[in-house]
Amino acid sequence: MIKLEHIGIAVNNLEVSIPMFEKLLNTGCYKTELVESENVRTAFFQKRDIKIELLESSHPEGVIAKYIEKKGEGIHHLAFEVENIEIEIRRLEKDGFVFVNNVPKKGADNKLICFLHPKETNGVLIEICQEITSK
Ligand code: ZN
Repeated sequence: MIKLEHIGIAVNNLEVSIPMFEKLLNTGCYKTELVESENVRTAFFQKRDIKIELLESSHPEGVIAKYIEKKGEGIHHLAFEVENIEIEIRRLEKDGFVFVNNVPKKGADNKLICFLHPKETNGVLIEICQEITSK
Protein backbone atom coordinates (compact mmCIF):
# COMPACT_ATOMS: atom_id res chain seq x y z
CA MET A 1 0.00 0.00 0.00
CA ILE A 2 1.36 3.41 -0.94
CA LYS A 3 -0.98 5.78 0.86
CA LEU A 4 -4.54 6.50 1.89
CA GLU A 5 -5.87 7.60 -1.48
CA HIS A 6 -9.30 8.82 -0.46
CA ILE A 7 -12.15 8.50 2.00
CA GLY A 8 -15.54 7.56 0.55
CA ILE A 9 -18.60 9.10 2.15
CA ALA A 10 -22.16 7.96 1.44
CA VAL A 11 -24.59 10.85 1.03
CA ASN A 12 -28.28 11.15 0.21
CA ASN A 13 -27.98 14.05 -2.14
CA LEU A 14 -24.91 15.41 -3.93
CA GLU A 15 -26.67 18.72 -4.64
CA VAL A 16 -26.76 19.30 -0.89
CA SER A 17 -23.43 17.73 0.05
CA ILE A 18 -21.19 19.20 -2.67
CA PRO A 19 -21.66 22.84 -1.55
CA MET A 20 -21.26 21.81 2.09
CA PHE A 21 -17.92 20.04 1.41
CA GLU A 22 -16.80 22.95 -0.80
CA LYS A 23 -17.30 25.25 2.17
CA LEU A 24 -15.78 22.79 4.64
CA LEU A 25 -12.62 22.18 2.61
CA ASN A 26 -12.57 25.65 1.08
CA THR A 27 -12.02 24.17 -2.35
CA GLY A 28 -14.23 23.36 -5.33
CA CYS A 29 -15.44 19.93 -6.33
CA TYR A 30 -13.08 19.02 -9.20
CA LYS A 31 -15.10 16.22 -10.76
CA THR A 32 -18.44 14.47 -10.71
CA GLU A 33 -18.76 11.12 -12.37
CA LEU A 34 -21.48 8.52 -12.84
CA VAL A 35 -20.24 4.96 -12.38
CA GLU A 36 -23.06 3.09 -14.05
CA SER A 37 -21.82 -0.40 -13.18
CA GLU A 38 -22.04 0.53 -9.48
CA ASN A 39 -25.23 2.62 -9.65
CA VAL A 40 -23.40 5.48 -8.04
CA ARG A 41 -22.81 9.15 -8.70
CA THR A 42 -19.53 10.41 -7.30
CA ALA A 43 -18.06 13.82 -6.53
CA PHE A 44 -14.39 14.44 -5.73
CA PHE A 45 -12.54 16.99 -3.65
CA GLN A 46 -8.82 17.32 -3.29
CA LYS A 47 -6.88 19.55 -0.99
CA ARG A 48 -3.18 18.76 -0.60
CA ASP A 49 -3.16 15.19 0.71
CA ILE A 50 -6.86 15.15 1.55
CA LYS A 51 -9.10 13.49 -1.00
CA ILE A 52 -12.78 12.90 -0.43
CA GLU A 53 -15.17 10.95 -2.62
CA LEU A 54 -18.87 11.54 -2.10
CA LEU A 55 -21.14 8.70 -3.17
CA GLU A 56 -24.81 9.12 -4.01
CA SER A 57 -26.94 6.25 -5.21
CA SER A 58 -28.15 6.67 -8.77
CA HIS A 59 -30.67 3.87 -8.33
CA PRO A 60 -33.10 3.12 -5.46
CA GLU A 61 -31.73 -0.44 -5.26
CA GLY A 62 -28.06 0.54 -5.53
CA VAL A 63 -25.44 -0.47 -2.95
CA ILE A 64 -25.19 3.07 -1.59
CA ALA A 65 -28.98 3.36 -1.21
CA LYS A 66 -28.95 0.08 0.71
CA TYR A 67 -26.00 1.18 2.82
CA ILE A 68 -27.70 4.45 3.81
CA GLU A 69 -30.94 2.62 4.53
CA LYS A 70 -29.09 0.37 7.00
CA LYS A 71 -26.48 2.69 8.49
CA GLY A 72 -27.36 6.21 7.45
CA GLU A 73 -25.08 8.70 5.75
CA GLY A 74 -21.43 8.66 6.70
CA ILE A 75 -18.02 7.16 6.05
CA HIS A 76 -18.47 4.30 3.61
CA HIS A 77 -14.94 3.15 2.78
CA LEU A 78 -11.23 3.87 3.00
CA ALA A 79 -9.29 3.56 -0.24
CA PHE A 80 -5.61 2.66 -0.28
CA GLU A 81 -3.54 3.19 -3.37
CA VAL A 82 -1.30 0.36 -4.52
CA GLU A 83 1.32 0.21 -7.25
CA ASN A 84 0.15 -3.07 -8.72
CA ILE A 85 -3.36 -4.18 -7.83
CA GLU A 86 -2.93 -7.75 -9.12
CA ILE A 87 0.13 -8.35 -6.96
CA GLU A 88 -1.61 -6.77 -3.96
CA ILE A 89 -4.72 -8.96 -4.42
CA ARG A 90 -2.57 -12.09 -4.49
CA ARG A 91 -0.60 -10.94 -1.44
CA LEU A 92 -3.75 -10.21 0.59
CA GLU A 93 -5.52 -13.41 -0.46
CA LYS A 94 -2.46 -15.40 0.62
CA ASP A 95 -2.78 -13.68 4.00
CA GLY A 96 -6.41 -14.81 4.28
CA PHE A 97 -8.27 -11.66 3.27
CA VAL A 98 -11.51 -12.09 1.37
CA PHE A 99 -12.46 -9.83 -1.51
CA VAL A 100 -15.93 -8.71 -2.52
CA ASN A 101 -14.49 -8.72 -6.05
CA ASN A 102 -11.01 -10.08 -6.67
CA VAL A 103 -11.04 -9.12 -10.33
CA PRO A 104 -10.24 -5.40 -10.53
CA LYS A 105 -12.92 -3.28 -12.13
CA LYS A 106 -12.95 0.25 -13.42
CA GLY A 107 -14.00 2.67 -10.70
CA ALA A 108 -14.39 6.41 -10.66
CA ASP A 109 -11.57 8.90 -11.21
CA ASN A 110 -9.49 6.72 -13.51
CA LYS A 111 -8.83 3.85 -11.14
CA LEU A 112 -8.89 0.09 -11.10
CA ILE A 113 -10.54 -0.93 -7.86
CA CYS A 114 -11.25 -3.92 -5.62
CA PHE A 115 -13.10 -4.12 -2.34
CA LEU A 116 -12.14 -6.27 0.62
CA HIS A 117 -14.93 -7.88 2.56
CA PRO A 118 -15.59 -5.72 5.66
CA LYS A 119 -16.16 -8.81 7.82
CA GLU A 120 -12.42 -9.47 7.62
CA THR A 121 -11.38 -5.88 8.34
CA ASN A 122 -13.12 -4.90 11.58
CA GLY A 123 -16.24 -3.75 9.78
CA VAL A 124 -14.37 -1.21 7.66
CA LEU A 125 -14.91 -1.49 3.94
CA ILE A 126 -11.48 -1.24 2.31
CA GLU A 127 -10.95 -0.37 -1.31
CA ILE A 128 -7.61 -0.89 -2.96
CA CYS A 129 -7.01 1.09 -6.10
CA GLN A 130 -4.46 1.57 -8.80
CA GLU A 131 -4.23 4.55 -11.10
CA ILE A 132 -4.92 3.58 -14.70
CA THR A 133 -1.96 4.72 -16.71
CA SER A 134 -2.57 5.20 -20.40
CA LYS A 135 0.12 3.62 -22.53
ZN1 ZN B 1 -13.60 4.98 -3.42
